[in-house]
Amino acid sequence: MKKGIFLIICAMLFFGAVLPAQDALAGKDNNLRSQFKEIREKSSWPILGTDFDDIISPFGPRTSWDGGDFYFHRGLDISADEGASIIAVKKGVVYDIDEYYGGGGRTVILRHDFPGEAKFFGRDLKYYYTLYMHMSEFNQEMVDAFNRGEEVKIKKGQEIGKVGSTGNATGPHLHFELKVGSPWALSTQLYYPSSENYTGFDPAVNAMWFYEPLEKSTSLELIRKPKENKAAMLRICTSDDQPIANRVKFKIRNPKKKITIKKSNLNLNKRKGFDASSTEALGEADKSAPYVKVLDSALTSENFCFDVVVPKKFMDEYYTDKYKRIIDVYDIWGRKKRLKF
Ligand SMILES: [Zn+2]
Repeated sequence: MKKGIFLIICAMLFFGAVLPAQDALAGKDNNLRSQFKEIREKSSWPILGTDFDDIISPFGPRTSWDGGDFYFHRGLDISADEGASIIAVKKGVVYDIDEYYGGGGRTVILRHDFPGEAKFFGRDLKYYYTLYMHMSEFNQEMVDAFNRGEEVKIKKGQEIGKVGSTGNATGPHLHFELKVGSPWALSTQLYYPSSENYTGFDPAVNAMWFYEPLEKSTSLELIRKPKENKAAMLRICTSDDQPIANRVKFKIRNPKKKITIKKSNLNLNKRKGFDASSTEALGEADKSAPYVKVLDSALTSENFCFDVVVPKKFMDEYYTDKYKRIIDVYDIWGRKKRLKF
């Protein structure tokens, strides 16, 4: 299966209403970036014989495989030949093996220890989980040991199964997902609020955190300038190897008075900008603040782009030269690019 046949190109980012002093808070309620800095030391790529170029659908909002829009894609889709070896990206233990993991088909879930004290949304987390979906077959020894009720340890790089297209897939690929604190999506957690797997947040974050930053290649372009009664629009692109833009911060300032008039943040890992409290697809954007417009061809062989709309409601009367409008885009490793518009 070649790239491109698969649907889904993804799109991304988003936004949300925002809190003051976000950076100050972030240090206290979230240290995942520093935890993954340690974790990603020598992580394996999950399919032998493929690389970043084989990502066909990144993490983030995208058009749905059945034509709907704004479905939140929680993993990376990596294209590969049927039967290619899927390996554990880090050492861990088998948490679950499932023949029918919903749309994920044959799925393996591994559990891994955080190296230190991990925090997300203010909660202390013990484990992170990697999920490998759509497999054609499992490592049978692993399955047998798991069925005997043993704790099955898996080494980094060990084969756990083969690439296939079980579940909802239009061709062979791996849906590779990283979850923190809980192996369960928020919608499942809400059914079992007393479970030890309950965190109260949607646990999937960008699995690109397992890997070292490649090159710094984010570009920002103003597609539609701020005008009276018009939404402004910006295009954010990164290299196709790095579909990793993750946070967008907007600010409108009055330079004369030296005050910030409005702020808004989008954050993919934290689902800021979507209704992330209860829905399965996290599919509703808050269009009163800057939001991501899903593109049909967000990921090409050259780059990965998405548009952010700054709605006229948000722009209000602040479209003139009297005001400064600033957008900062951060990738998952924290690298920033700024545009004044
Ligand atoms: Zn997927």
